[in-house]
Order: sequence, then C-alpha cells, then structure tokens
Amino acid sequence: MTTSLLSVNPFSHATVGSLPLTPLSEIPAIVGRARLAAGGWKSISVTERIACLKPAAARLKMEAARLGGLSSAEMGKPLVEAIGEANYCADGFVAELESIAAALQPFMREDERTISTIHFEPLGVVAAITPWNFPILMLQQSVLPALIAGNTVVTKPSEVSPLVAHEYYAILNEFLPKDVLINVTGDGAQGKALVASNVDLIVFTGSRTTGAHIAAAAGARLARVILELGGKDPLVVLDDADIASAADFAARNSFRNAGQVCVSTERIYVDRKVARAFESAVVERAALLKLGDPADPTTSIGPMSSARQKSLVERHIQGALKDGARLLFGNRTQEGNFVEPTVLAGVNHSMEIMREETFGPVACIMEFDSIDQAVSLANDSPFGLGAAVFGADESRATNVAERLSTGMVGVNRGCGGAEGCPWVGAKQSGVGFHSGVEGHRQFAQFRVLSKKKS
Ligand code: NAD
Repeated sequence: MTTSLLSVNPFSHATVGSLPLTPLSEIPAIVGRARLAAGGWKSISVTERIACLKPAAARLKMEAARLGGLSSAEMGKPLVEAIGEANYCADGFVAELESIAAALQPFMREDERTISTIHFEPLGVVAAITPWNFPILMLQQSVLPALIAGNTVVTKPSEVSPLVAHEYYAILNEFLPKDVLINVTGDGAQGKALVASNVDLIVFTGSRTTGAHIAAAAGARLARVILELGGKDPLVVLDDADIASAADFAARNSFRNAGQVCVSTERIYVDRKVARAFESAVVERAALLKLGDPADPTTSIGPMSSARQKSLVERHIQGALKDGARLLFGNRTQEGNFVEPTVLAGVNHSMEIMREETFGPVACIMEFDSIDQAVSLANDSPFGLGAAVFGADESRATNVAERLSTGMVGVNRGCGGAEGCPWVGAKQSGVGFHSGVEGHRQFAQFRVLSKKKS
C-alpha cells in the first residue's frame, strides 16, 4: 500500500519531494482533535486571534521566495509569477485579517418594539479543500476567515502541490495553539473522507464535478458548504472596442498560467465587423509568448500542471478542429507537458471546447451579428463565474455587461472587483462565496439576540 505522496515537477519530471499520506482511518480522529481545540480557540476574542496570527505575515514575507520556488516546481507556473503570488499573500495578510475582523463586528437592527444585535459565532470545525493553480492564495483565502471567525480548521490541499501547502501550513502553525490548524495530506480519497467526517463547514475550491460530489455528500447530513467552482468565462468584443486593448486582454487572460485560472477567458464572442482585425491581433500576441523552463525569467508559459491536464486540453483542441474549427495559431506538438498557446476561430457551442472548462492556453473565437445574439451565447453555459465586455461606448458596454449571468463582470477590464468586493460565482460556478464583508461572514454562524425596547 502506498504510504507517501510524491510531488513531481511537471517540467523536469524530477521528484520535488514527498510527504506521508494521511491514513484515511485517521481522519475522524484528526477532526476530533480539531474539535477539542475549538473550545479554547473560540473562547478568545477576534482581536486576540488576530494578534496570534499577525506575526505570520513577516514570516511569510521572509519565506516568499522559497514558497514561490516550491509552488513553481510542483505545478509549473513561471517562478516570477509563483513568487509574486507568495508576496501578494504575505503583503496582504494583515489587511486581510483586519477586513475579516471588521466584517465580524456585531451590528444592530431595531423597530418600534424590539432591539436586536446580530453576532457572529464560530461554526466549529471547518474543512478547507483547495486546488493547485494558486496553491498559496487559495489556502490563505479559505483558512484566514475560518480561523478569525473562531473555527478550527483541517486543510486538504491538492495532491499536485502538497509541499508548498505544507510549508504554508507550517508557518501559520508557528503562531497558533496546538490543533487549531491541522493538515491532511492526500488526494481525492482523503478529501472525500474529510467531507464525510464530522466537520461543520466545508470550504471547497476546485472543479464543478468535485463540487457536485461534495454538495451531495454534505447535503445528506446538512453540513454547510462554500463551493468556489470552475468557470467558462466569456469575453464579448463589441464593434467599437479598441482592438489592441481587447486583444491584449484576450491574450493575457486566455494564456496566463497556461490558462489554468478559474477566471481565464475560455470563450470569445466578437462582432463580425471587427472579427478579422481582432483575430490577427490575438494571433500576434500569442506568437510573442515563450514556452519554457518555469525557472527562466524570460519564460511566459510553463508546462501544464500534469500530463492529465495536457491531455484534456489536447482533447478539446483536437475535437474542435475535427468539428470544423479554424486553426489560426499554435497546436504544434510539444514535448513533455507543454501545450502551445493556441488560437481557434469558427468554433460553436456544439463543441466540447465551448461547453466544458478547458483550463488550458487556448483562445476560442466565435463571431456574432447582434448584441442580443452575443448576450444569448455568453449566457448559454451552466458556468457563471466571470465575464468581460470590451467597447468604446462605456454605457453601451455596461448595458451588455448587466445582461450577463455571471457573478462578476468587468467592462474594458477583467472581472475582479475593487478591494472589499466578494469573489463570487453564479449558476454552477459557486454555492456561497468568500471575501468582502458578505463573504467573510459566511465562515461564521449568525446569531440574532433580541430584547424588548424600553
Ligand atoms: P479538483 O476538483 O480536481 O480538486 C480540488 C481539490 O479537491 C483537491 O484537493 C482534490 O484532492 C480534492 N478532491 C478531489 N475529489 C474529491 C472528493 N470526491 N471529495 C473531496 N475532495 C476531493 O480541482 P483541481 O484540478 O485541483 O483545480 C482546478 C479547478 O479549480 C478548476 O475547475 C478551477 O476553475 C477551479 N478553481 C476555482 C476557483 C474559484 O475561485 N472559483 C479558484 C481556483 C480554482
């Protein structure tokens, strides 16, 4: 029986390291330990919890290069971007703690007869199950709101990037009381066992398929869930769009992190009148990208995170070409886990590549003749994470954006909101959400305490 989890570099195929697999039979006892620790952790104030964790920011900053190096080695993103992610988490750590504390302040409501205070209480033990594409950020955004709300947490990071997650977890644990944060190492089997255990909230970031399994398992015992799932983000390019900036955005957002971003642009709808100009501009930009060693600072795209991910992307591309898509750029055979940035035109919604999440460096371009048609195509998906609309007439572009059925949409920019906004998916891209006042509060139990008004 396998007793350790190997982490393999998707570029060099060398072993990055290994960790002991958490035996499935131990998971209920681990959750039991977290539950025992919950009593002490919930008895201290939010301010004290913050004081406990704040010094971790400086440690994370000190270790950012090492964490970034591990992340890049485990999942293949360019080292510069991986270190950038680690620095982003360290630099934003204290502000994140403070914004969570502010969200958890009790507030009042009153009418002629009653005065009520809404308090935020811990839920108990939270399971945080995370993916590999932003292995540090995804952990941080699941773990901090759960801990500050007074819950203890059991993490189960992705089997693709266990070492960086383990190091992040170890740094936080330098500052936390025993068993307030416990890590489980493993793959879907350990994730499944954690979901089946006696946890009170499951915070999951990952694919729609796994999210549906978790929702079903959690539903059977009415455990709470926050599910941040996959996307199939549309980009709508209107006839008056600035073609250079629309193409800059399309290329950046289709190819960044080899397309392995939940809010990657996966479908592009362009007004037929500007389609040729837009296609050439995207191809020009794709041709400038350099595939290569993630550790080389001149590399723009590393390998896919795994052979499995590469074969999924290739299946989508080959399927589209077989069904009549036009290849404008890319798709040349690559060694190892690389997929060349690829630009396809003439795609349609009968193709898998326009329906299922590809999670690869592919720009898929389809033409439209009217705004109604563009809106209807963009909304024709079970996913609803992010979207973007480009057009020079901002009020017309905003009007189109308002008709899109996604949780987040950007006008002439990406979909992420200003500081303090939630990160939220609509339709099958999310159940519950995180960040912002409304997101932070989902990691706590609301309690309404009412008195007669004198
Ligand atoms: P995944 O669903 O395969 O795995 C995610 C995590 O779930 C891993 O830790 C895995 O071991 C675990 N897991 C697998 N099966 C499980 C089960 N039956 N029960 C419990 N846990 C289980 O996803 P992935 O390939 O790691 O990540 C990519 C996906 O994550 C993409 O769909 C992407 O869009 C999504 N994602 C979404 C967001 C967001 O904010 N909405 C952010 C990042 C990634």
